[in-house]
Amino acid sequence: MQNLKEQFPDIYAAIRDETRRQTETLEMIASENFVSLPVLEALGSVMTNKYAEGYPRARYYGGCDHVDVVEGKARFNVKKLFDAAYANVQPHSGSQANMAAYLTLAKPGDTVMGMHLNHGGHLTHGSPVNFSGRLFNIVPYTISPETGRIDYDLMAKLAREHKPKIIVTGASAYPRIIEFDKVKEICDDVGAYHVADIAHIAGLVATGLHPSPLPYADIVTSTTHKTLRGPRGGLILTNVEGGEFILENMPKPKTMPEAIDAWVFPGCQGGPLMHVIAAKAVAFMEARKPEFAEYQQQVVKNAAVLAETLLSEGYSLVTGGTDNHLILMDLAPKGLQGRAAERALEAAGITTNKNMVPNDPQKPFITSGVRIGTPALTTRGMKEDEMRQIGKMIAYILGDLDDEARQKKVRQEVSELCKKFIFYEIPPE
Ligand SMILES: *Cc1c(COP(=O)(O)O)cnc(C)c1O
Repeated sequence: MQNLKEQFPDIYAAIRDETRRQTETLEMIASENFVSLPVLEALGSVMTNKYAEGYPRARYYGGCDHVDVVEGKARFNVKKLFDAAYANVQPHSGSQANMAAYLTLAKPGDTVMGMHLNHGGHLTHGSPVNFSGRLFNIVPYTISPETGRIDYDLMAKLAREHKPKIIVTGASAYPRIIEFDKVKEICDDVGAYHVADIAHIAGLVATGLHPSPLPYADIVTSTTHKTLRGPRGGLILTNVEGGEFILENMPKPKTMPEAIDAWVFPGCQGGPLMHVIAAKAVAFMEARKPEFAEYQQQVVKNAAVLAETLLSEGYSLVTGGTDNHLILMDLAPKGLQGRAAERALEAAGITTNKNMVPNDPQKPFITSGVRIGTPALTTRGMKEDEMRQIGKMIAYILGDLDDEARQKKVRQEVSELCKKFIFYEIPPE
């Protein structure tokens, strides 16, 4: 980064300081991860310069031979990874993937069912402040307040009542297995399409640690940067190869893959981010290696050990534990607020985020929960012993949110721990 350092020292310094922050603190935001150096190199490449509207061998611009290679590799490898017949790797983000998926299957004004944001769903699953809530008539389903798990009976009842065009599954803060097969039954029963959004669990799905939605969903969407450990971006998969989708201004009905392609570009996006697609290709190839399966297994083990440790320290977890890469602490029984907990943990060098819990007495800006994930720390090489140590640190901090001496003490312990698990080299001053 010599040129950046000489010509734009402020930006260089911010990148250096961010590298230091990522290296010297414990990153436990469940949606974050650390990409490999080959992924970073592909991201910082001249592929960013290229306009490549269209798809491989069918572009609106010349000079696309080399970008066609990377997009071809990305599509080939992600299809292998998830055992899918079709893939679109162009969505700029998970949100863009969802937009293209919904518009493929439904028209503005149609009814869409998604998991309520306050119950673990995502903004794009129907929040009124998001395109999804503005374009579609949203009927949210929820988790059971008793068990903290998705209430599939309620989902079925709401589906029979409202006859949605789409039921969206997937979540941003749900610690248990999602039963895609059950949702398919409900969809078949009411004639709805099933969109499965595996943004959070893609790495687990790719390695068989979470059931795949591909046999049960019409369209699968995902991000590439969470457990999948690629660059920031989105993707779309399907195993439905036929279908007749009518697109306005298009002469012939389209198959599912053709319709998705058309809704990504030109439907929702312009030129693809070819540097990101090159980095996706690298990440998908990495994810097909045996080491990646071992990594995902460790992610899940680490979350389980962290859950056990916090339970044994007397804390409550939504659903009482976890099946995946994240846990949701319910701090209401201790009379604590999520926001204050997040701040105290951050002061101690542990980065998490506040989160709503079932029947949360607090508003979304305050909350009674904290979401904690293991993907990023597992990438750094941390295992069960470190999770026990970190669980105890978290419990100690939460024991008195106002005790700054505790925070200082743990901050020191965090620094020592981080030094043993360096992942990125910090750029020089
Ligand atoms: C993170 C996430 C997304 C959106 O991803 P962005 O890339 O931030 O747009 C979509 N759905 C779910 C369930 C998510 O967790």
